[in-house]
Amino acid sequence: MLNYSNLALLPSIDVEREINNELIEIAYRQMPSALYSMILVSSLLAMAQWSVINHKIILIWLALILLITGWRFYLYKIFIDSFSSETADELRHSFFKALIVSSIIFGSASFFLFPSDDIIHQLFLAFVIGGMCAGAITTLSSIRYAVSIFLALTLLPLIISVGLVRHSFLQDAMLLMIGLFWIMLLIISRRLYDNTYKTLYSNMQYKIAAQELRCTEERFETIFEQAPVGIFYYNKECVILEVNNTMTQVLKANKETLCGLNMNYLEDIRFLPATKIVFEGKEGSYVGPYCSTLSGQHLHIMLHSSPVYDDKRNIIGGVGIAMDITERVDSENTIQHLANHDLLTNIPNRFLLLERIQEALNRHKSNQKQSAALMFISLDRFKTINDALGHHIGDEILKDVVQRIQRHIGEEDTIARVGGDEFVVLILNSGKNIEEATFNIESIATKIHDAVTIPFNIDGHVFNITSSIGIAFIHNDDESAYEILKHADTAMCHAKKEGKNTTRFYQQQMDEWMQKRLFLERELHNAIHNKELELFYQPVIEIKTGKIIGAEALLRWNHPSIGLIMPDDIISIAEESGQIIPIGEWVLLHACQQCMEWKNNPIYGDKITKIAVNVSALQFKQDNFMDTVKRVIEDTKIDPNILEIELTESMIIDNLEATIAKMNELRQLGIRISIDDFGTGYSSLSYLKKLPFTTLKIDQSFIRDIMVDHDNAAMVQTMISMASIFKFNVIAEGVETLDQFKFLEELGCQYYQGYLCSKPVQAYIFEEMLIQTYSLNG
Ligand code: C2E
Ligand code: CA
Ligand code: CA
Repeated sequence: MLNYSNLALLPSIDVEREINNELIEIAYRQMPSALYSMILVSSLLAMAQWSVINHKIILIWLALILLITGWRFYLYKIFIDSFSSETADELRHSFFKALIVSSIIFGSASFFLFPSDDIIHQLFLAFVIGGMCAGAITTLSSIRYAVSIFLALTLLPLIISVGLVRHSFLQDAMLLMIGLFWIMLLIISRRLYDNTYKTLYSNMQYKIAAQELRCTEERFETIFEQAPVGIFYYNKECVILEVNNTMTQVLKANKETLCGLNMNYLEDIRFLPATKIVFEGKEGSYVGPYCSTLSGQHLHIMLHSSPVYDDKRNIIGGVGIAMDITERVDSENTIQHLANHDLLTNIPNRFLLLERIQEALNRHKSNQKQSAALMFISLDRFKTINDALGHHIGDEILKDVVQRIQRHIGEEDTIARVGGDEFVVLILNSGKNIEEATFNIESIATKIHDAVTIPFNIDGHVFNITSSIGIAFIHNDDESAYEILKHADTAMCHAKKEGKNTTRFYQQQMDEWMQKRLFLERELHNAIHNKELELFYQPVIEIKTGKIIGAEALLRWNHPSIGLIMPDDIISIAEESGQIIPIGEWVLLHACQQCMEWKNNPIYGDKITKIAVNVSALQFKQDNFMDTVKRVIEDTKIDPNILEIELTESMIIDNLEATIAKMNELRQLGIRISIDDFGTGYSSLSYLKKLPFTTLKIDQSFIRDIMVDHDNAAMVQTMISMASIFKFNVIAEGVETLDQFKFLEELGCQYYQGYLCSKPVQAYIFEEMLIQTYSLNG
């Protein structure tokens, strides 16, 4: 951990004060030797002067000396016990006080122990005082002014005493010597003081520097060990010398293993050039994969390396900083993958597909011989299954479809999901020329059709799905990837329109068709409001009597500029854009209103027993469908028994349980239900008994060649027989010829619709037909 007190401590050092404290410490440390010599010298002096000075004076002086020395010993003891930077100032003051008193007493020897007439003893005294002064220099010079005070208080009395008794040259010379001696001692003591001060000062500097260095080292150590990046030092042989903790964590190896390792001999040396470049005095970096042989893990690392120099600026190795960015790279890759792939099927999405188409376009530009193709695959009826049975089943089908398609395309080809039930396959090498390519692509498309047609078995439900495929070639350099994709889409829409389970190649005019479709979709929004919708009615004839008993309402759109638009175009657009709901409601209401008008006609009113209305899957599935039906019945006052709702076979089997429930609700209201286009789905006759319907409408495809195709004739016969067993009515659709009519009559079919009697016609024409029928025939 970082020691913050160290950081704060460094600048707070008061160098001057620290040195002064050390100086006072030196002075105190030398005190005992000074004091012992003071006692010794004073005693010797007392003894020496004993013969020439009054004994009482000598004893008093000596006693004072001992007293003051005792005091100073006491101070020394205090120093030993309590010296610190806090007590230093007080000890300095006490030192000075004791020094002054001690100097005065010792210096007073020049007055009291100075024999005025004995030159020998005078000289001895001067000698002793001089010696003491010389000694004092060594013990006191560490304290400023201490020497000056001592010298002044001891030498001045001597000079005075000698001056007072001066009568010989020797004494004059003595005075002079004392003066010179004084000056000399002052100079020496000053030098000693300066030297001591300088020594202490540089000591202090050294101490500070050392402390700083320690702090820096500590900080560096902390950074090195705690750094969130891996750090390693290596020498010029690429041998690792030192690593930090993080480095051991990154490589999942301990320090002992890593230190001493020669990087040249590692298995994965992709990063090595970045570490070696430092020997040329450059910085190195490497970002990329690294496979650690030590831990066996695959990492992604970011490495930066710098040279390490010795004090002469020679490169002696390098330092590497390494970071494990595996997680970051992984999540970047995941994000990238998510952005480019479909979540459900994990195949490329539209973005990635467009990128790949662009690449194919670029390749085509450089090599014209290679022709690539786009195959737009849409599942027919998938939406109905998905909406009716739930997304879970739908999702499983989609995943299965992807696998089925993948089996028929090459490794280098791309399959992408571009919409709910829409897939696009980019075939890269479809053929050397357009003929070969067309042949190849068509055969792949056939294989895909066949693969999709195999029944899906999910959660015990069996589904049959077909696909519509549109194909566009990449052979025009001027087209963008987006345009080519649109072409394939257009071709697919055409395939769908031209009777599902087919393949269509893109042609220019398809584009126009697509444009028209988009145009109609926009126009349809205002069709109801502009009163452009109209219902045509096709008579339903009872075969036995040949009389019209009702009609099927069929939608028409009178577009102001295009003219009459047929329901095949309207319904698919309306279903895709959701406009089928208001339109369906409009149809139901108007058909019922029209029917009531006819019912109220006295001539034929009571002969009208049925008005059939087509309902689309999307409309029937609406939660409020029943409410709409009830409201229309209420508003138009129509007898529910007259109303027949037409549901197609395919929409019933997609969601059997829910549909049956709703059918029962309709039946409870008295409404009749017919199964339209029967025979075109994949259902078997056997499940018919489960359904609460009243009428079965045999699809026109069976009637069309009923006279030539025996299978069809047999089918129709079976349906009619079943009808009599299960007691439901049968209507044959699309009856155009008398032969067909007679054949059906023979089989016992009850009703028919078809051009033989009439095409769907406007209401007023239908009325005329009714009048004709009933006023002529009664
Ligand atoms: P659908 O319900 O099977 O209606 C019969 C279609 O067959 C009608 O086509 C009709 O004109 C045609 N048709 C009738 N007799 C013959 C014949 O003898 N020969 C031939 N070749 N065709 C015959 P249309 O009016 O074009 O309607 C096509 C389909 O559009 C209808 O097929 C129905 O599924 C749907 N449709 C029509 N009106 C509506 C509507 O209001 N709502 C819904 N949801 N669908 C409707
Ligand atoms: Ca119908
Ligand atoms: Ca029909």
